[in-house]
Amino acid sequence: MVDDLQTRGIPCSECQAGIMRYRKITYLTWLNEDLITVPDFPAWVCDVCGRREYDGQAIFQLNLLLNPTAGKPTPAVRKHRIPKKKPQQKRPRASRPE
Ligand SMILES: [Zn+2]
Repeated sequence: MVDDLQTRGIPCSECQAGIMRYRKITYLTWLNEDLITVPDFPAWVCDVCGRREYDGQAIFQLNLLLNPTAGKPTPAVRKHRIPKKKPQQKRPRASRPE
């Protein structure tokens, strides 16, 4: 039963010592340039190391809500474009005419 899991918790896969318990947390995700906060989001949180695992079904529904066309999970990490520096080429000095 799912209810039984939610009351007992599940062993943490990260630290092996803690118990991940079902909680409602505030979920943060980026939608293009906007930071989206979702209160009361269902997740499993370890009581020792604090590892979070979000409810897969809830993530799926959230992504449908945020982006109905793509259906792909929004990457949590924003990509920054770092402009590459062009290596300065040393120009040979014009030799003096002797
Ligand atoms: Zn843990």
